[in-house]
Amino acid sequence: MREYRPVDPQKSPRFSGIKTFMRLPHVTTTEGIDFAIIGVPFDTGASYRVGARFAPEAIRSISALLRPNNTVFNVSIFDHCSGVDYGDLPVVPGYIEESYKKIEKALFPLVDGGVNPILLGGDHSVTLPELRAVVRNHGPVALIHFDSHADIWEKVFEKPYNHGTPFRRAIEENLILVDHSIQVGMRGSAYTLDEIDVARSLGFEVVPAHEAHEIGIPKVIERIRNRVGEAKAFVTFDIDFVDPAYAPGTGTIEVGGFTSEEALRLVRGLAGLNMIGIDVVEVLPAFDPTQITAYLAANVVFEYMSLLALAKKRANSEE
Ligand code: MN
Ligand code: MN
Repeated sequence: MREYRPVDPQKSPRFSGIKTFMRLPHVTTTEGIDFAIIGVPFDTGASYRVGARFAPEAIRSISALLRPNNTVFNVSIFDHCSGVDYGDLPVVPGYIEESYKKIEKALFPLVDGGVNPILLGGDHSVTLPELRAVVRNHGPVALIHFDSHADIWEKVFEKPYNHGTPFRRAIEENLILVDHSIQVGMRGSAYTLDEIDVARSLGFEVVPAHEAHEIGIPKVIERIRNRVGEAKAFVTFDIDFVDPAYAPGTGTIEVGGFTSEEALRLVRGLAGLNMIGIDVVEVLPAFDPTQITAYLAANVVFEYMSLLALAKKRANSEE
C-alpha cells in the first residue's frame, strides 16, 4: 500500500469535503511522495485577459470527478504511486520578478526530495521559474511544449518577463536542451511572418497546428518521441493548445486547434519517456462557466499521473 492516495468515494461522496486535487491529502512534506500537485496562482504575466490565478482552485474543484484507474493503460495509479496535493506556491500579484524568486525557492524542497512536480498555473510566465528550479537537480531538460503560441518573444511591452517570453529566456539561461525540445500546435494570425522560423532558428523542432492536422496525431507522437529520445523531459501544456470549442476558458484563444480527445491522446503518447515534471497553464475560470476547460486540465494531469504509474509498474515487473 502506497502512502498517499485519494479519499474513498464510498465513504465520503465526491461532492463533499475540502477540495484538493482528486481529493488527495494536503501534505507539505516530501517524504514518501512520488508526485505532488502544486498550484502556481500567478497571472499578471498575461498580455490580454487575466484571471488564471483562480485556475488551481477551479481545477481542484472539478478534479473531484476523477477516478483512480486508467483503463487505456490498464493501470491503477495509486497501486504504484503515492501522490499528494502540496497546496499553492507563494506569489506577489503584479510583481513578476519577486514572484519568480518565490516560486523557484518554494520548489527547491520538492525537487531536492525527488518529487515529480505537477504544477497548475497561472499564466505561462510561471514555467520559467519552474524550469529554473527543476534544472537545479536534473540539469537542462528537454521541453515538450503544447501551445497555440511559441512564447519566444524577445520582449513584450519592452519587458523581458511575460507569458509570451518564457522559452526565449529558458534558452538564454541554458535551462533546456533545445536539440531535444519540440513545440506543437502553433497557429493563428501572427505579428510577423517569420514566427515559426524564429522558433526553428532558436533550435526548436516545431510542429505547427496546420501540419499536425495534416500528418495526424500518431505521426506527431512519433516526432515528439524521436526528438526527446532518452533525455529528461519537462512537459508544458498551455490549455489554449486545445480548440476554444473544447477549452473556452483561457486568455488568448486561437481557433483551428485540437479536440480534447486529441490532446489526451498526445499526452498518452509520451508513455515511456523520462518525464521529470509537467505544468498545465492558462486556464481562466471566469471564461469557463461549464467547467469544461478546468476538467480538461484535470484530465491532462490524470493522464500524466497514469504515465508515472505505468513507468513504476513496468520497472517493478522487470525487477
Ligand atoms: Mn503559452
Ligand atoms: Mn498559448
